[in-house]
Amino acid sequence: MVDNIFTGTAFYKAVGEHKLMGTRCKACGEIHLPPRPICPKCLSGDVAWVEFGGKGKLTAFTVIYIAPTAMIAAGYGRNNPYIAGIVQLEEGPSVSAQILGLDATKPESIAIGAPLTASFVERGEGEAKKTFLAFNA
Ligand SMILES: [Zn+2]
Repeated sequence: MVDNIFTGTAFYKAVGEHKLMGTRCKACGEIHLPPRPICPKCLSGDVAWVEFGGKGKLTAFTVIYIAPTAMIAAGYGRNNPYIAGIVQLEEGPSVSAQILGLDATKPESIAIGAPLTASFVERGEGEAKKTFLAFNA
């Protein structure tokens, strides 16, 4: 279960439970991802959790060869690049995440607008094990 604190911490906790959660403003209907305790559009504090269906489309991407430490540990880097993208969800908001199932070595083959589905990747062992949000082509 997700607690009632509308923070990034709660967002990552939900990802750990394989859920993509944001907030919806009860005053104006605006949907936010990551979740926000106060609506940036109308400044109302009357927000509720909303779970996204996990479907979206690719709106931008970049191929990463110089990987951060966590991604090097996962086997990515100069010889095995990966794709980081911006995904616009069917519900409206956009989120950045790793994109799986597309060929990072052939970026010219990757189409903007490609349909994607949220997936959750476990990395690390024991105490260091963490769940990451990704999207699959
Ligand atoms: Zn609002």
